[in-house]
Amino acid sequence: MIAIEKIIESGIGVFFQPIVSVRTKSLTGFESLARAVDPDTGDMIPPTVLFSAAAKAGKLLELDRACRKSALDAFSPFHRKNPSLLLFMNFESAIIDMPAAGSGHLLRSVRDAGIDSRNIVIEIVESKVNDSAAMRVFTESHRAEGFLIAIDDMGEGHSNLNRIPLLRPDIMKIDRSITHGISREYYHKKIVEALCVLARGTGALLLAEGVETEEDAVASYEAGADLFQGFFFSRPVPPHEAEADFLSSVETISVECRRRAAEVYRGRLTSEEKFRAVLEGLAAEIAGIPPVMLPDQLRCWLRRVPGCECVYLLDRSGRQTGPTVCAETARGAGSRYSLLYHPADSGTDHSLKEYYCMMKTLRVDSFISEPYISLATGSVCRTATLSFPRFDGDGLILCADFRCME
Ligand code: C2E
Ligand code: CA
Ligand code: CA
Repeated sequence: MIAIEKIIESGIGVFFQPIVSVRTKSLTGFESLARAVDPDTGDMIPPTVLFSAAAKAGKLLELDRACRKSALDAFSPFHRKNPSLLLFMNFESAIIDMPAAGSGHLLRSVRDAGIDSRNIVIEIVESKVNDSAAMRVFTESHRAEGFLIAIDDMGEGHSNLNRIPLLRPDIMKIDRSITHGISREYYHKKIVEALCVLARGTGALLLAEGVETEEDAVASYEAGADLFQGFFFSRPVPPHEAEADFLSSVETISVECRRRAAEVYRGRLTSEEKFRAVLEGLAAEIAGIPPVMLPDQLRCWLRRVPGCECVYLLDRSGRQTGPTVCAETARGAGSRYSLLYHPADSGTDHSLKEYYCMMKTLRVDSFISEPYISLATGSVCRTATLSFPRFDGDGLILCADFRCME
């Protein structure tokens, strides 16, 4: 049994964990994390254990306020030295459901510590708050007082995306269950990319939590994270150690990100040139072939071009002439995907497709799309297009889907 009152009386310790920006190569601020010692045994008590013991003893509000006071006192000298640093503070969600939530206590505590409310980020675990109306009152009143609002542990537990319009967060913190291993997990990276679109579209910053390795930091950056926190940069440390030299890790990441970006751009240019050359070769092969013989010729060509999933031709108005010819290696009819994805038939209107619109608008004779899910096969692919003249005078647009190896 933890002597919670004794712990609160003797004061709660806090550790600070740095939060960094790779883009600006700077320290953004700290998250304050409660650290308490059992006075009877001298053992460290994990904060989650501490908070559930306090809840059982009906001392949650007292503990929450004690943690906050320690955090603000420890942050005060940093704030005086550098008024742009942020302090991220956890808010016990049960507190938000209590009537004391809107009492102005936080604003008073912040002012008493000589800190501006704009330097404080209130972290809320949205899925744990029961009363949405109370959460709205809590966030709106604190926002009006100048505080910043963050959603904590996004992607963990219940993903209550419907709470986002309610909270209108300034910062979204992605849980480490998503960022962990992101460099190896295609789906995790895609989730972070999607959250990045959500964050950008709503004017929020995206923070990747629990970043433990250089690879995961780079992958999170590439997926669009703005801010970073995790053991790779720094473990939580006593406040007087919190400005130690973690910026060397930031430098390592930015060098690696630049190197990889250059590699991607070079690779993109090379593959665009390669796609164009491949299509030019095919166009030359089929320019003089009568339409009835085209499918066989295209099938034959597909066997010689690994990675190309399917090929089809459009007339100048974007209407498909002839069937889509698929490689034998593409996900075919009869597969699990065949009802979701199937190749377009002759006569299909493609004039709304991005590649067609781009070629028309930019008056270019070729285009390579960004990777997307092919409606023909369900694979992630890029479509390469090339318009070319035919022996009978009618120009055609050659379209080929190339599988992306992600
Ligand atoms: P949290 O808000 O998600 O805090 C981040 C936790 O992740 C911290 O654990 C931190 O030490 C840990 N962490 C940070 N980077 C990494 C990493 O790269 N890898 C791994 N594996 N872990 C990392 P901690 O300090 O044990 O805190 C656990 C939870 O307890 C916090 O989760 C927060 O919900 C709660 N908590 C901590 N301090 C406070 C507090 O002062 N007030 C309230 N209300 N809750 C607190
Ligand atoms: Ca937190
Ligand atoms: Ca968290």
